[in-house]
Amino acid sequence: LVVLTDVNKHFGALHVLRDIDLTIHKGEVVVVIGPSGSGKSTLCRTINRLESIDSGSITIDGVPLPAEGKALAKLRADVGMVFQSFNLFSHMTVAENVTLGPIKVRGIDKAKANERAKELLERVGIGEQSNKLPAQLSGGQQQRVAIARSLAMDPKVMLFDEPTSALDPEMINEVLDVMISLAKSGMTMVVVTHEMGFARRAADRVIFMADGQIVEQATPEEFFTNPRSDRAKDFLSKIL
Ligand code: ATP
Ligand code: MG
Repeated sequence: LVVLTDVNKHFGALHVLRDIDLTIHKGEVVVVIGPSGSGKSTLCRTINRLESIDSGSITIDGVPLPAEGKALAKLRADVGMVFQSFNLFSHMTVAENVTLGPIKVRGIDKAKANERAKELLERVGIGEQSNKLPAQLSGGQQQRVAIARSLAMDPKVMLFDEPTSALDPEMINEVLDVMISLAKSGMTMVVVTHEMGFARRAADRVIFMADGQIVEQATPEEFFTNPRSDRAKDFLSKIL
């Protein structure tokens, strides 16, 4: 569904992505881990074209990136993204946050969009909060709104960049539980996270990045019990 071929990206002299080859299949859940600065966020951001690439190619469902204009807007709508900071529109209610994209980008009529938003907010466990402003919700609730908002666009793939890193510990699980149920529902997902419990439970594949390269990829069982590279062993010894 998402295919990266020989992707390279620099920030000035810094070579942040090096020869990345990665294929993400439909329905697959890929967890990306690695030390700070290894290029995990940049990798996510290239997949929805928030960052350009210097060489190589990225295709989403057969459509090559970079695309421009309408094609780019369509492609962005197909790729949902949830960030560490929830990035909700603070002056809009929860329901308005969730319906904005479908109405403006997908051209869905307001009543239908509202109905779908209600359904999605219930699915992420905050059906009662739809008329509140983001600031009136807890961090965990806000992140679940962000997930519902992404889902409302019917994305083909969802990218999560450390979605629980800004949350208080007691709110992490409510967000991870939503992500686990999304994974079980067959959504294609790329998740950058330090939550190894999530990786063990939900990942089909773990990708370990260091210095802009994919150093290792394996099933979670393989990776956590028998990491092959010294970099991965060293990383795991620090976080587990
Ligand atoms: P973390 O775990 O800390 O989130 P990461 O693996 O997500 O790290 P990236 O954010 O992808 O790492 O950054 C990779 C490298 O690129 C880092 O050295 C970072 O400083 C640099 N970098 C990221 N974005 C930019 C930018 N817009 N301009 C210049 N350098 C950048
Ligand atoms: Mg990052």
